[in-house]
Amino acid sequence: MPRAIAYHRPSTVAEALDLLGNGCIPLAGGTVLNADDDPTPVSMVDLQALNLSDIATNDDELRLGAMATLHDLATNHQLPSGVAEAARAELPSTLRTLATVGGTVAARNADSVLLAALLVHEAAVEVVGPGGSTTITLPHLLSEGIPEGSLITAVRIALGGESVRRSTARTPADQPIVSATARQTQDGTWVAVTGVADHPVLVDPENPTVGLNPSGDFRGSRDYRCRLAEVLTARAVAAVGGIA
Ligand SMILES: Cc1cc2nc3c(=O)[nH]c(=O)nc-3n(C[C@H](O)[C@H](O)[C@H](O)COP(=O)(O)OP(=O)(O)OC[C@H]3O[C@@H](n4cnc5c(N)ncnc54)[C@H](O)[C@@H]3O)c2cc1C
Repeated sequence: MPRAIAYHRPSTVAEALDLLGNGCIPLAGGTVLNADDDPTPVSMVDLQALNLSDIATNDDELRLGAMATLHDLATNHQLPSGVAEAARAELPSTLRTLATVGGTVAARNADSVLLAALLVHEAAVEVVGPGGSTTITLPHLLSEGIPEGSLITAVRIALGGESVRRSTARTPADQPIVSATARQTQDGTWVAVTGVADHPVLVDPENPTVGLNPSGDFRGSRDYRCRLAEVLTARAVAAVGGIA
């Protein structure tokens, strides 16, 4: 557990931003923060009372409030089934009821199959900070991080075109070593791969390893991960009927 020296539970985003400006950090579901054993003292801003957990459709988009939990995503029938399934696969049920979509985006976990599903659904992240509100594409946010002193308030995804994931893991219940998620739309084929970079990445469906240089670990070497990315991308693309 981190050394929490202060806990705040504001009821407006403006109050939360003031607290972030004074060095506090956001606390969402706490599955990352409360598992952190870094002893550095922290002051936390609990986001629970900010009313950020709605899930709603808007034209051809779905807006996921940052505080919607992975359980909410897994059980909401408005979600594309591939995104709901990825939320279910991400964490065990005990953690799904806590972990949030905003926390998942902020944590940028390299193995996150939910982030991969959001990427192929062209996710855009609504962020509010000292300079006002802005929308950042998910690939940009994953590579650059959240702007200093800002909060994620929602993630918007495009509807239409179901996604399919193909993965290799040590056991069926384990986090994939590498996974490829594909989605086919009228505009083309989207593919996102996990386990090959610091965070999940969109790749070229025909050349999925271009520009990648994954780190090897006890679960798989660099070359093994690259080979998996090629094979799993081909399988996922074939499963959605992409690129003849
Ligand atoms: C046992 C265990 C297993 C796990 N397994 C997996 C796994 O298989 N795959 C995976 O991807 N992850 C895994 N995780 C990591 C984690 O559960 C997820 O990343 C989770 O979704 C984080 O969400 P949270 O709401 O709990 O975030 P929190 O712990 O509350 O916060 C995480 C980080 O995000 C910041 N943050 C949270 N919300 C916001 C916001 N709205 N705006 C700005 N910053 C914000 C926090 O300040 C903190 O830095 C695991 C964690 C544990 C403890």
